[in-house]
Amino acid sequence: MKKLPFILLLLLCLKSYAQSAMEIHQRAILVDTHNDVLSNEQINHLDIGKLQTEGQLDLVRAKQGGLDAQVFSIWCGPQYGKGTAFRFANREIDSLYALIKRYPDKITLVRNSAELKKAVADHKFAALIGVEGGHMIEDRMDYIDSLHNRGMCYLTLTWNNSTSWATSAYEERFKHDSLTHHGLTEYGKQIVHHLNDLGVMIDLSHPSEQTFYDVLATTNKPVIASHSCAYALNPHQRNLKDAQLKALAKNGGVVFVNFYSGFVDSTYQKKATEFRHRHRAELDSLIKIYKDEDLATDRLYAVYKAESEPMRPPLSLLIKHIDYIVKLIGADHVGIGSDFDGAESYPKGMDDVTDYPKITAELLKLNYSEKDIDKILGGNFLRMLKANTGK
Ligand SMILES: [Zn+2]
Repeated sequence: MKKLPFILLLLLCLKSYAQSAMEIHQRAILVDTHNDVLSNEQINHLDIGKLQTEGQLDLVRAKQGGLDAQVFSIWCGPQYGKGTAFRFANREIDSLYALIKRYPDKITLVRNSAELKKAVADHKFAALIGVEGGHMIEDRMDYIDSLHNRGMCYLTLTWNNSTSWATSAYEERFKHDSLTHHGLTEYGKQIVHHLNDLGVMIDLSHPSEQTFYDVLATTNKPVIASHSCAYALNPHQRNLKDAQLKALAKNGGVVFVNFYSGFVDSTYQKKATEFRHRHRAELDSLIKIYKDEDLATDRLYAVYKAESEPMRPPLSLLIKHIDYIVKLIGADHVGIGSDFDGAESYPKGMDDVTDYPKITAELLKLNYSEKDIDKILGGNFLRMLKANTGK
């Protein structure tokens, strides 16, 4: 009899705690700096203006998850080069423009922090454009101008493939000896200056360590890493070492933490490789059906859920990356760049854009102040946008 009031009190406390987490989350501006829905071809048959059962993002679920703004990644693989990559990038931008035209009351394109804030005030989803891979400018400054005119807010200087003017983390690690240069060339430095002048943010998530430091020595604006994690917790070439994180903070920049299991969890890659190996024949036939390895892999993970689910790291490991970087360089330099719709596996509980409130709740449990949570969810991105565009 005596215990009952205590349990009731505890339940009431827990309820109000969950409520306050949700209230903070819904009030804060949440920006995600990396989603691949436009480039994974799902856009061909999915209308993300409506609720979908596939993929991680649509405008209905975005509202549920308190997501106010998304940088849509514009991406094509290295098989696209001179004469095709820029055209492909524009086709993806066309598909975003078409979506905005279909739902003008729900979504709008924004280019700076003032426009982003206005969109939030108008209860419209703010769409931004990030171009993921320098190969899409085909070594041409006028193509940078053109992409900027269409709304590009950041350029990831390389994807996994290097360009003639900047080397990538992937190729420095796996093709080091065949590279003709390392880091940023003179032309690469001119590109950095040009992006600075236009107010396009420089994204260093995929470039090599040498390119990273060459850019920091060249740029006159703060830069970002749009979707990376902490190398100290998982030594993957796509993650940033402590010295890089410190250099980024010194530049005033921000790293937006990636949710992909392979970047979050150092034990994931081995398990994923073994899984693919076990089902190689089936994966090959799925690739033939889908004509896309990523979609085929997604399908394989769905078919063998009993095997793929236990491969997902716990949510606490994702939070550990955020907390590790905050402790190292401060809450002014951390944000969210999920890589949703661009990977086959995310931590448990992070299934789609409705799950962002779980991050806010976890940060509250770690005694993060409301002010710091605001910065991590979107404040730091707004600061970056303003510092680069002037608005
Ligand atoms: Zn990427």
